[in-house]
Amino acid sequence: MSWYSNDANSVISKLNTDRASGLSNAEASKRIDSYGPNEITQKKSKPAWLMFLESFKEPLIVILLVAITIAILSSIYEFNSGNSEHGVASLYEAAAIFIIVLINGGLTFHQTRSAQKSLDALRDMRQPHLNVLRDGTWTSVAADELVPGDIVSVKSGDFIEGDMRFFKTSELQVDESQLTGESDAITKTTDSLPEDTDLADRTNMGFSGSMVVNGNGIGVIVATGMDTELGKIADLMDDEDTQKTPIEKSVADLSKKLMLIAGGVIVFTVGFELTKQFMNVGTITVSDIAGISSTAIAIAVASIPDAMPVVLSIVLTIGAKLLAKSKGLIKSLSSVETLGATTYIASDKTGTLTKNEMTVTRFYSNRKKFNVEGNGYTPFGDILDDKCEVADEKDYRRFFEIAALNNEAEVKPDENQNWRPFGNPTDVSLVVMAKKAGITRDHLLEKEENRDIDVLRVIPFDSTRKMMTVVIKEDDQYYSLTKGAPDVVAVRTTGALVNGEQVSYSQIADEVDQTILEFANDALRTIAITHRKVTEEQAYHGTAEELEQDLCFLGIAGIIDPPREEVKDAISKLTGASVNVVMITGDHAATAKAIAKRLGIIKSDSAEAIVGSQIEEMTDDQLSEKVLDTRVYARVSPEHKQRIVKQLQRHRQVVGMTGDGINDAPALKAANIGIAMGINGTEVTKDAADLILLDDKFTTIEASVESGRTIFGNILNFMRHELTTNVAEVLSLLLGVVLINTTIGEVTAVTPTLTALMVLWVNMVSDSMPSFALGYDEAEANMMKEAPRDTSQSILANGMLGRVLLRGSVMGGLVFLGFIWAASSGYSVAESQTVAFLVLVFGQLWHVYDARSAHTLFDRNPFSNSRLTLAVGFAATSSVLVTLLPFFNEVMGTAPLSMPLYAGIIIISAVPTFVLSGIKKALGK
Ligand code: ADP
Ligand code: MG
Repeated sequence: MSWYSNDANSVISKLNTDRASGLSNAEASKRIDSYGPNEITQKKSKPAWLMFLESFKEPLIVILLVAITIAILSSIYEFNSGNSEHGVASLYEAAAIFIIVLINGGLTFHQTRSAQKSLDALRDMRQPHLNVLRDGTWTSVAADELVPGDIVSVKSGDFIEGDMRFFKTSELQVDESQLTGESDAITKTTDSLPEDTDLADRTNMGFSGSMVVNGNGIGVIVATGMDTELGKIADLMDDEDTQKTPIEKSVADLSKKLMLIAGGVIVFTVGFELTKQFMNVGTITVSDIAGISSTAIAIAVASIPDAMPVVLSIVLTIGAKLLAKSKGLIKSLSSVETLGATTYIASDKTGTLTKNEMTVTRFYSNRKKFNVEGNGYTPFGDILDDKCEVADEKDYRRFFEIAALNNEAEVKPDENQNWRPFGNPTDVSLVVMAKKAGITRDHLLEKEENRDIDVLRVIPFDSTRKMMTVVIKEDDQYYSLTKGAPDVVAVRTTGALVNGEQVSYSQIADEVDQTILEFANDALRTIAITHRKVTEEQAYHGTAEELEQDLCFLGIAGIIDPPREEVKDAISKLTGASVNVVMITGDHAATAKAIAKRLGIIKSDSAEAIVGSQIEEMTDDQLSEKVLDTRVYARVSPEHKQRIVKQLQRHRQVVGMTGDGINDAPALKAANIGIAMGINGTEVTKDAADLILLDDKFTTIEASVESGRTIFGNILNFMRHELTTNVAEVLSLLLGVVLINTTIGEVTAVTPTLTALMVLWVNMVSDSMPSFALGYDEAEANMMKEAPRDTSQSILANGMLGRVLLRGSVMGGLVFLGFIWAASSGYSVAESQTVAFLVLVFGQLWHVYDARSAHTLFDRNPFSNSRLTLAVGFAATSSVLVTLLPFFNEVMGTAPLSMPLYAGIIIISAVPTFVLSGIKKALGK
């Protein structure tokens, strides 16, 4: 049977479910076992072994494999020429490199996997949720837990997850372009359809992957996962590739450049050494070639910042995890980077900057102004007139009744007798207001007092129309009730009710305008309430446009929505960090400015606010002129947000934009960082966003910007450190190649300053562990007092390159000096290389404390990062150990040194860092 051709009740009974109570939880979990999770299963994720093999793709690994081959070849040669001792040594070397390759591959694999897991966990947190009826109560259920038979309620801004048959709809419109390509929204109904209806015309069905753009509806899920219409065409969908972030791309670029340079250096080395040897001795032996190739391999290893790509993606993932802990959920790792560079944050006012706890404190009705007493949602308090006496009910009765009827919100006491709001906060405030006079919707609909009132239709509020309309039948008369933004409503108003008589609106228009301004200047949000008589035909079939005109004015409510206290600090922090905060709201300009001033977004009343109608009249160029200096946009529609974003971006600004409604989605997509509300946001906006505020709080945006900057700073720090190591290694080896032309003690012209395995040790152990720990560093003290970084600049800009080259050269020079000194003081080759090795290891361990500051060594507490302390401790001890243990002596070419020599090396190697950083500090840079 087809779900759409049968009536809803038989569909429901066929699916063994219940319209009023839904499935039981037990039944739902039984069904999930038999139907599987509600997922479009995409391509199977890669098997572990493949990922393991893939981690060997890195260029370094290729070089190491070459090194292994050379070592094996030379061992074969040595054995053949009867030198079995050297043959064994070469074999050991091959084995050692192989072991390091395995360890490194395993580590990379492990880290990539755990990063992937955290990212998956973050993705799970982003799962859409739906309102599902289970065991008789509406609960929020993750989309993948839906099963056939579930009763689901959807509303504007939701995605439909799973195919469903509607049995109740109200102005429900669905965008099915994902599935059918039809871009117009389809109006959904509940009537059964003929058997031969095409997919696109099955108007009583909702299909997985489409989104609700208007109204709401309830239906029963008939298919989930791969059984849905979307599932049937799922292989047409492109699976999302893991995209590289900008910085990952530039590091990949940088690595490529370094590889080229390395290639040049290696060719030069081999050529230079061969000529040198030939000029000195007159012949070139195979063992010369072996020596030279070992230098070449050491240089190759030295010049590749192998740990960088891995550490980079791990640091970004750590960042994403930390962000989620502080309630900011990001979609992709690049957002971490972008956040730190944000220059403008355009934030919704209501709910983000303010508490969204709305209370009517004043109103205007029957040409009089009133005050409403009482606090919060508690529906008790007097209605006072302008003489502060209890007001006469007949002056506001109709106003209150319409406010209560044009409304779907409620307040209810919880078990502790605290009143809790349900529904739209603006509407809640009106419910509370009316209830203070004993007027409630339920009461009005109870057909008491010889009145018979029924609600026929609800056309929900939307922030583009800025109005909400409800059609009722009162006895035999149809009324359309409209409330909304006063200036929008005013142009559609022709009459007014004064003392029970209908008068012309123009008679009171000026007075109303003044009242609105008065309320708005007090930071009150204003709302106009109207009603109008309509015909039966209009009542049932009139469109919003037809109903929302020729209105009869009843009054204005003034609603306070207090600013969130903590936001003021967050704003001043952002401003201090040269991040501009902009308020965007659908409210009246005066209301917006009053709140903006309280929050410190604007400093004086003279600051200009731009309103939506002005934006509409402006050309892009005109808007572009204003956009850098405007801090408040009022009476805007979601459509305007996109233009604001685009114009800011024209000035090369990095824009964060918040939103919650479905119409905000395009603006969020256009922004560099689209920010959605996790609690009050619609699923569609969350889907379009780069950052979801799990707690809907503005302070979380500030925290996210701060984290973004911290993480980016840490990335620069470890890159600075890694690159310095590479420069030092390459230089110390190159100096050996170029400057040693004769035999110095036991050192010959082809002896490398460091063995390949020593270089490998530094890169993969003594240096990479502290670098990794840098990823966990906290923000530097002054970070939020500095301007955002310029995203158009290369990562090497801003002194990074100079610093790396200077530090690296000095360090490389010192390593070489240590080597020469040891060789000329009569130490063996192994001992001289060990001196060079330890100077490098310790030099870099000192340097890491310099690298971790954007300024100097002396600007940070060296012990503030315990992981770093541990990593440095481990690197220092293990590096000394490999010079002491015979096994490592054999494999790495190290040799034990004397106690005073160890001590001397540790002290001497500190000199470059302290001197250079000291000079920098002294110069005040
Ligand atoms: P924002 O979310 O930026 O505060 P909205 O788009 O929600 O702005 O509201 C814009 C204006 O629409 C409000 O100032 C108010 O006058 C009116 N309005 C808000 N909520 C409702 C509602 N539920 N019913 C009718 N009018 C409303
Ligand atoms: Mg709103």
